[in-house]
Amino acid sequence: MANLDLEQLYQSMGISKKVYNFGMAVEKKLQQRFDKIKETTTYNQLKVLKAMQDNQVSEACFAATTGYGYNDLGRDKLEDVYASVFHTEAALVRPQITCGTHALALALAANTRPGDEILSPVGKPYDTLEEVIGIRPSKGSLAEYGITYAQVDLLADGGFDYDKIKSAINERTRLVTIQRSKGYQTRPTLSVERIGELISFIKKIKPDVICMVDNCYGEFVETKEPSDVGADMVVGSLIKNPGGGLAPIGGYIAGKQDFIEMCAYRLTSPGLGKEVGATLGINGSLYQGLFLSPTVVESALKGAIFAANIYERLGFSVVPNGTESRHDIIQAVTFGTAEGVIAFCEGIQAAAPVDSHVVPEPWAMPGYDADVIMAAGAFVSGSSIELSADGPMKEPYAVYFQGGLTYEHARYGILRTLQQLVDKKIIEL
Ligand SMILES: *Cc1c(COP(=O)(O)O)cnc(C)c1O
Repeated sequence: MANLDLEQLYQSMGISKKVYNFGMAVEKKLQQRFDKIKETTTYNQLKVLKAMQDNQVSEACFAATTGYGYNDLGRDKLEDVYASVFHTEAALVRPQITCGTHALALALAANTRPGDEILSPVGKPYDTLEEVIGIRPSKGSLAEYGITYAQVDLLADGGFDYDKIKSAINERTRLVTIQRSKGYQTRPTLSVERIGELISFIKKIKPDVICMVDNCYGEFVETKEPSDVGADMVVGSLIKNPGGGLAPIGGYIAGKQDFIEMCAYRLTSPGLGKEVGATLGINGSLYQGLFLSPTVVESALKGAIFAANIYERLGFSVVPNGTESRHDIIQAVTFGTAEGVIAFCEGIQAAAPVDSHVVPEPWAMPGYDADVIMAAGAFVSGSSIELSADGPMKEPYAVYFQGGLTYEHARYGILRTLQQLVDKKIIEL
């Protein structure tokens, strides 16, 4: 029988019968949930396809450019496609944007001037942005250029502190930064709808303030994006959701023409802007990755839901929980101990198609204030749309798990983490 063979194959790949059965019992109950996600995938797949058709993407777009990269048709058209997908006036999508942090730093620096203030109304931003802004003193930070920062934390129940936000907005407030995803925190991720409510509130107080959304890990999780609900700029990484696992590098900023232009002048040079920047032959991967992204995000979401339900059933605190609606692909599981976080990451690493034989260890990482353990056996180095997990070695000892180019791989990875925790006697089934 085919099922028996599958069980045997799992066993030969380190998954005991007990772990397999536990996992399959959990998965059985998730079918309805998975069907619902498929509806979002269908919508987003068509949205991306339509953007490519409307912009007449052609084979010539995949040709390589070198040197200055003048007249890079594929690059320019890809930016039009991103603008169509995000329903914005313009976009900047470049391999010269090295990562998500760089894209965010670019959007912030390009659109603020000395004396301006940046406000985060949703609490502390992602760790690496602390040094960009200068929350933690750092060479070249915005603080060094006389740009100040204000922050209003979320309320204890995760709600917006509207009174404090209102009083934090002043004549110097130039840009409001809103992080969609929880990042390395256990607060809930913001839905696009809630981001829309927050932006409306802010624009009523100060219509000309720039609302920027850190969209990392959020793309294609819902049918709407923050740019559909008033965001002036949405920013993200191509080695997360929108690169679909195929983009080898890059970041994007989509938004209003004026702000995107500023980003282009900052990225390359005043006077040059978008006109330069060779793409060295990677355009095909950027297009194809975007095309695959909605289905890849679906796989990652299903994996996250599977993990949430497994670890919730074992009594661990999981954010989001097993049943609540999803607004990004990250799953947090709080183990409460370093051993739990480490075992989980060992399991993810052991499940990888690349470097499955290496054992991850906690390490100091640039931009992070605590040692971090990262598991990533990825085709694209550091890609976190591929099955990956990371956890900072600090309270509350939570692991952040994301990705999976296919659901079948994500499922195996999660079973492997479970096996690791069982083998190390951290849990018992
Ligand atoms: C990943 C991430 C970033 C930074 O992106 P890198 O590509 O790692 O530099 C910023 N914000 C959030 C919410 C992220 O998830």
